Amino acid sequence: MTDTSVDIFISGGGVAGLCAAVAFGAHGFSVLCVDPVPPVTQQAEPGADLRTTAYLQPSQAFLDRIGLWPHVADTAQALQTMRIVDADKGDPKDFDAADISDAPFGWNVGNWRMRAGLMARLAELPTVDFRPGVATTAYLTRTDAALATLSDGSRVTARMALAADGRDSFIRNTLGIAAKRTEFGQAALTFAVSHPVPHKNVSTEVHKSGGPFTLVPLPDHDGLPCSAVVWMETAANARTLLGMDDATFNSAATERSAHVNGPLSLVSRRTSWPIISQIADRFCAERTALVAEAAHVVPPIGAQGLNMSLKDIETLLDLCLTSPASLGTAEMLRRYHRLRYPEVLLRVKGVGLLNRTSMAGAAPITKARAFGLDAIHGIAPIRKTLMRLGLGAT
Ligand SMILES: Cc1cc2nc3c(=O)[nH]c(=O)nc-3n(C[C@H](O)[C@H](O)[C@H](O)COP(=O)(O)OP(=O)(O)OC[C@H]3O[C@@H](n4cnc5c(N)ncnc54)[C@H](O)[C@@H]3O)c2cc1C
Repeated sequence: MTDTSVDIFISGGGVAGLCAAVAFGAHGFSVLCVDPVPPVTQQAEPGADLRTTAYLQPSQAFLDRIGLWPHVADTAQALQTMRIVDADKGDPKDFDAADISDAPFGWNVGNWRMRAGLMARLAELPTVDFRPGVATTAYLTRTDAALATLSDGSRVTARMALAADGRDSFIRNTLGIAAKRTEFGQAALTFAVSHPVPHKNVSTEVHKSGGPFTLVPLPDHDGLPCSAVVWMETAANARTLLGMDDATFNSAATERSAHVNGPLSLVSRRTSWPIISQIADRFCAERTALVAEAAHVVPPIGAQGLNMSLKDIETLLDLCLTSPASLGTAEMLRRYHRLRYPEVLLRVKGVGLLNRTSMAGAAPITKARAFGLDAIHGIAPIRKTLMRLGLGAT
């Protein structure tokens, strides 16, 4: 295999790595992106990522800016209202995007659909070389370049490398950057359901001990209203739920949803994801930027994970566009770390705390949770400030 020299090398072609490839490719940078696992772009294929992601307003604007949004817009479902229900209290609280904006909070898109959109957009970008089925197998840096060896035997030299290779990042580990990890002993079950009651673009979070149960609006399925579900539970309960037959599982899910959308019926298979919080000690090293889950992982509450990752990518892109000559220099990468690390740290801590509160089953904490929700909802300035923070304001 021949050796390649590029502006930007991206290790990892998950949704974040491929978004980075599109972002830099759309601005004329030469990019090589590799991933050992080829993207699955059809829902029915084995290995399809059936999760959905809520792209909040700033992320949607960024995806539009890099020419990706038009490839997924027709499958996106608007999120106008977030409804929080405490199952022990049963008193729903609505947070309406109209309180703070003319636009919805965000738009929900299936991850496998996003991968199909990414492939379509990459086909339009002549400066991006995406090599599925290829892994980074060795990595080192010099002051003027990052050097990677790939599993197809080739080597690449880049002015800057992005570690987008996930929570157990090969690049982060090779560089010896430590990461603080918190295990919550929980898992998130994800699946899609149809239901008789229309969701009216309302995303509903039902809180009870074990973790939240979140219904996120999807387009109709076979003429019936449909939602994506993230059900967080203790790891042991999640295993039991995964082992149930569909009818028993439908009853358990309907019960756990507090019947907010009527009886739920599975329209997809169930997948399970371990829940952790993690943050790398540094988001940069010589000629290297850590982005997305290589840098930070949060529990799936409040649609923060991939939205924070897109902000990483946009921050790097803007630094590169402001001063193309400084691409990958120590000064540029230090600025990236300074711009992202403090904000990400706050969100990792905040989402972790929300998760612990939401998991709690003890009466004093469930009472405090209900009281806190009442207070947040009842005081308009606090409610609006928290909604803006949730959208990514700092
Ligand atoms: C249940 C659930 C629901 C979620 N919902 C939301 C949501 O609504 N909104 C939101 O913003 N976020 C959400 N998230 C978070 C979001 O899904 C993640 O942030 C995102 O998928 C992670 O993307 P990533 O590209 O960093 O990591 P990954 O998807 O893990 O991608 C890393 C890639 O690196 C590749 N790789 C590994 N090793 C190598 C190597 N040596 N060389 C090259 N490539 C390598 C892997 O094959 C993989 O494709 C959710 C997460 C979960 C678990």
